[in-house]
Amino acid sequence: MSESLYPWLHAHWRQLAAYAEQQRIPQALIFSGRAELGQEALALAFAHSLLCFAPQTGKACGFCHACQLCDAGNHPDLLFLQPEEPSKLIGIDAVRRLVTRLALKPQYERQRVVIIQPADALNTAAANAFLKCLEEPTERTSFILLTRHANRLPATIRSRCQQMHFLSPEPDLAIQWLRQQGVKQAPERILAIAQGSPVLALQYAGQGMETLHMQMFNDWLNVIQHPAQVLEVAEQWQKQSQVDIEVILTWMASWLTDLIKLSHSAEQKHLRHPDLQVRLQALLKPLNFRAVYAHYDLINRSRQQLQTTLNKQLLLEKLLIEWSRINQGLTAW
Ligand SMILES: [Zn+2]
Repeated sequence: MSESLYPWLHAHWRQLAAYAEQQRIPQALIFSGRAELGQEALALAFAHSLLCFAPQTGKACGFCHACQLCDAGNHPDLLFLQPEEPSKLIGIDAVRRLVTRLALKPQYERQRVVIIQPADALNTAAANAFLKCLEEPTERTSFILLTRHANRLPATIRSRCQQMHFLSPEPDLAIQWLRQQGVKQAPERILAIAQGSPVLALQYAGQGMETLHMQMFNDWLNVIQHPAQVLEVAEQWQKQSQVDIEVILTWMASWLTDLIKLSHSAEQKHLRHPDLQVRLQALLKPLNFRAVYAHYDLINRSRQQLQTTLNKQLLLEKLLIEWSRINQGLTAW
């Protein structure tokens, strides 16, 4: 498995394989990290290797009955706890059903693996019910909790799990991998738009995401000169279906990061978006940097509160209005 695994996950895989080899598989693992780096594929590969009847040097054999069931998505000892709909919460009923299931023995007497994704979607009651699973361990059952926001999990759960953290790979490795996947044209630009995640960058490459990113950047610059267009821009951004608001806020934060870096005379190679340097530079001189820092903080706070933000368009309007007023006396560039 590790050969076909993303190259930046090899160290994580070796750690997991060592757990299995030494027969000290943690009862619960948290795979944490902001970026999409293939954590789900890794969790599945590890689960398959634990369920396989004849693992070979730590990897699932791919041929046995257990592997066939895994490949068909039908293994009775591989369970998933997920929201019923994307971006919804996981309620207590789903956890209760899981607990009932766990009271039965694993069907194949090897190991049972439960993957919870995303673990931060457990609502409070569900998290408390799940905590009981960790407090009263079931024999030969392991949990893998996938989350981009480990800090949202209750400390009582976190403290009972072994945490594995995932960081975006070095750009050189990511770019080399993207080229191998056939992304020949400006992979570094797509990687920047994908916040350093090669997995996301590969997805973006075929979707015209660079054009969308540039369009939004233009809009973002434009509202400073034409504040009256703010509501229209917020509506357009909200309507487009290619990226969700979390990505939009991340992009806004990344433009501001570059702007702040440029205000400290950063070199082009240290920017997230070197191709935007000239246009960001033109913004610099008349900007009120105290307001820029405050705006940057507001965006980051908004990102953290997205899960509980009901009206996304209102949030976009609020942020864009604040941005458009950041420097009322700005001269044209
Ligand atoms: Zn097998």
